[in-house]
Amino acid sequence: IEEKEKIEKLIRSVEDFPEKGVIFRDITTALKDKEGLKIIIKDFTDRYKNKGIDYVVGADARGFIFGAAIAYNIGAGFVPARKPGKLPAEVESVEYSLEYGKNSIEIHKDAFEKNSKILIVDDLLATGGTAKAMVQLVEKLEAEVYELAFMIELSDLKGREFLKGYEVYSQLKY
Ligand code: IMP
Repeated sequence: IEEKEKIEKLIRSVEDFPEKGVIFRDITTALKDKEGLKIIIKDFTDRYKNKGIDYVVGADARGFIFGAAIAYNIGAGFVPARKPGKLPAEVESVEYSLEYGKNSIEIHKDAFEKNSKILIVDDLLATGGTAKAMVQLVEKLEAEVYELAFMIELSDLKGREFLKGYEVYSQLKY
């Protein structure tokens, strides 16, 4: 990403959240910054425009923020992958382990057509558990994962290795 230092400075690190010993990377301070938001979204847009991506799938909830903006800019549709019990129609569901516990994630069964080209988006890649679950959801619907995009990657947690075989892009690494 261009102007990396600028974005790095806009991310707030909060110690001992959500539990002792964890440093939480808070992106709200970057998103509220007019210029920061523009730099972040422009970088994703430049990377994914004209790639034939049909749908952007965003992970509940911070993936929605980037996902919808990217989808709008590249002329793709936006599909939310949601926490359980939120989607009203028939869903596919995948269970996964999170950095802080266990969870599952759901997507509407009719979210996209077979063989659609999909970009998966979330704010941050940690262990890759959430992202892997998103990949499984997309593949359950017989669509194709083009790439996974994150604003931040916590390299020590080796999410990239966990997602081996898939293309992974992150704007910033910690
Ligand atoms: P993973 O499944 O272990 O890769 O964790 C990634 C998920 O946890 C993403 O949906 C993130 O939003 C969330 N997450 C984990 N650590 C952080 C953090 O430091 N800041 C913001 N979100 C985080």
